[in-house]
Amino acid sequence: MTTTTTRTEHLHDRPAWDCRICKQPWPCANARNTLLDEFRSFPSVLTIYLSTKMYDAMGDLGPDVDSSPDFYERFLSWANTDY
Ligand SMILES: [Zn+2]
Repeated sequence: MTTTTTRTEHLHDRPAWDCRICKQPWPCANARNTLLDEFRSFPSVLTIYLSTKMYDAMGDLGPDVDSSPDFYERFLSWANTDY
C-alpha cells in the first residue's frame, strides 16, 4: 500500500521553533511521526539530525534557555525508543 507524500509539512519556524502548522513546540506530534517514518531505517541518522536541530534551537533561543531546560527531552528523548 503506497501513499503519495503530498502531506502538509510540519516544519519549525525560526527563531521561535514552533511548528508552522499547529503552533506547538517543534517537533510537534505530527513532525515526530513524520520523522520516525522517514528515518525508520536510519535511527542513528535521525539522532544526528535532531542533535543538529537541538543546537540550532539552543542558539536561536539562547536567552530563554533557562526557562526551557528540557531541550534533550523535546528534541531527542522521544526518538530513542529503538535503542
Ligand atoms: Zn505541527
